[in-house]
Amino acid sequence: MRPDILNPLFAEVRSLKGVGPGLAKPLERLGLERVKDVAFHFPVNWTYRKSVSRLDVEDIGNNIIIPVTIMEHRSSGSARAPLRIYAADTEGNYITLTFFGRNGGWAKKQLPTGEARVISGKLDRYGDELQMVHPDHIVEVGAAGSPGLAEPIYPLSEGITNGRMGQLTAAALAHLPALPEWIEPTLLAARGWTDWDAALQTVHRKDDQAARDRLAYDELFSNQLAMRLVRAAMDKRKAVPIAGTGALVDRLKLPFELTGAQERVITEIEGDIAQSRPMLRLLQGDVGAGKTMVALHALLRAVEAGMQGAMLAPTEILARQHFAGLQRLLSGLPVNIAILTGREKGKLREATLMGLADGSIHILVGTHAIFQETVTYKSLALAVIDEQHRFGVSQRLMLSRKGRGVPHLLVMTATPIPRSLALAAYGEMDSSILDELPPGRTPVETRVISQERLPEIIDGVARHLASGKQAFWVCPLVEESENSDLAAAEQRAEQLRLRFGEQVAVVHGRMRGLEKDAVMERFINGETRLLVATTVIEVGVDVPNASLMIIEAADRFGLAQLHQLRGRVGRGSEKSVCLLVRSSQIGETARARLALMRETNDGFRIAEEDLKLRGAGEMLGTRQSGDSPFRIATPEQVRELIGVAADDARLLIDRDGGLDGPRGQAARIGLYLFERDAGVATLRGG
Ligand code: ADP
Ligand code: MG
Repeated sequence: MRPDILNPLFAEVRSLKGVGPGLAKPLERLGLERVKDVAFHFPVNWTYRKSVSRLDVEDIGNNIIIPVTIMEHRSSGSARAPLRIYAADTEGNYITLTFFGRNGGWAKKQLPTGEARVISGKLDRYGDELQMVHPDHIVEVGAAGSPGLAEPIYPLSEGITNGRMGQLTAAALAHLPALPEWIEPTLLAARGWTDWDAALQTVHRKDDQAARDRLAYDELFSNQLAMRLVRAAMDKRKAVPIAGTGALVDRLKLPFELTGAQERVITEIEGDIAQSRPMLRLLQGDVGAGKTMVALHALLRAVEAGMQGAMLAPTEILARQHFAGLQRLLSGLPVNIAILTGREKGKLREATLMGLADGSIHILVGTHAIFQETVTYKSLALAVIDEQHRFGVSQRLMLSRKGRGVPHLLVMTATPIPRSLALAAYGEMDSSILDELPPGRTPVETRVISQERLPEIIDGVARHLASGKQAFWVCPLVEESENSDLAAAEQRAEQLRLRFGEQVAVVHGRMRGLEKDAVMERFINGETRLLVATTVIEVGVDVPNASLMIIEAADRFGLAQLHQLRGRVGRGSEKSVCLLVRSSQIGETARARLALMRETNDGFRIAEEDLKLRGAGEMLGTRQSGDSPFRIATPEQVRELIGVAADDARLLIDRDGGLDGPRGQAARIGLYLFERDAGVATLRGG
């Protein structure tokens, strides 16, 4: 139960004064649902003003605040001409206030001749005169809402102005409760941080790094604390130790030798699962490093020990591919493997559910359906989570209810996450790294090419297809909606069909599963040769004969995403090429990011650099860039503070008595504030 003290913060944003239906859409687009969301909606920039009493050419180019008297409205007679209004300071120096697209009536009301007003805006020159175009504030002298010396600039959406957003945050800040302190006192003092509510007020009033850091730290601390609490609770609950006999693994016939890295990681995992402390291991390995093989070995150990294993894939396509691949490898072994996704229905589904419950199915592969409430396992001992960027605390809790004990958990990812973020996302996990690719792979050659050279690119595709090989064509990410993604892909496919006819296939996220599978299957079989796709092919898909990848508007993709996409080629012995097609005009950061892709194939290096480059600026204002689990903390703050938060969380649990200790009550509130209360729930034996 959420502590009452947080109620005002969790009130709906509608409860704030002056939020009518008109603001509903823009607030929704900005993700501002509750009062706390508004309070945590931080400025991304500031306008600074100089308060002056007289007009001075020295101030040209500055934002100024000045009291003036309105002298005269000039009308040029033409309705389309700008309005010009003369005003003067106390010494009789003149300024022209210029307005475009405003009518004279409006101006007479706002700026009545003979009256005094405080105006603010940028001072510039118009001919010989001083001028201010569209003052950003016009207020009566002494009125509320006078322009401040520093004005916060908020991330906005259509339908809400910056001024309005300022009023909303002010309204939200009026509801701040004083929360008890949960940060370790010496840390608080060493950093010079203020109380939570004071920091929040400050952040909206001025550009203050310490205040922003404190609030980011709260978020990071809640994250680290929640993960630790869950881990502690799970450790208490115990897993069933898996003692494999080798009966299955030894009979596995592989068409290749395991790499040294695969051997090493398999040994690490076997060591873990033989314990009654539940394994919680992250396996990081670049695209194509052979993680599936590692997973298979672990799953077979569970089966050897008479228990069950499950493997969760992020998409339907990938689940089916894993299923088919594992089935092939397991043919001839006494292992029963099944698939379960949203698409298995009716009798088939019933049969699978029965088999899981009575233990006759040994390994289950599928999408998130495999951990749903209705799925009961006889003895689930190991869960493998493949390519799931986030397998959060609440998912882990759900999984922990599936086994006799807590199932051992192996999370696999090729989506490179920077080390700093890894601590945030997987902080309490043990980590294994597959740092060796199977032999005989030729690195993908990456080229950056301008959109203007599309005809040449298409000629290149023609040569490639003529030589009997296949290619992927990834269409631009369109931000507005999935529908426009789709339109872009279909339009491009249409165009490519004119040249390549029936060799072209299209796959996109809006297709129904069956339809999508059919398209993929024809491509995998080589019936179609050029697959035009939205990013649905991003993870995992394996078509060794496809050795050319074209990514349109590559500058709009995240680097990690590009790396994943590129990983779809270079899977056969052929030399592969990845063409990053860039828009004709791109900024410097975008350019640097693409250059980095050209330069390296190392996913972890790409992740680290991406984080740095992004810190550099172009991403400013789009905090929710998808790959950060944080809303307040910026990548820089994560890098700097996550380690501190991890240590502090450990202190609170090991030394300060956990949530029942003196700091614990405050920490409990903090966990609820950041909606990480699943951590609290575990303590009640949830
Ligand atoms: P990822 O780590 O990206 O999930 P996969 O498990 O899909 O990689 O493996 C990529 C490809 O490499 C597959 O075709 C797989 O059969 C092959 N592979 C895996 N291990 C080895 C190995 N030791 N030697 C050669 N090929 C391997
Ligand atoms: Mg994989």
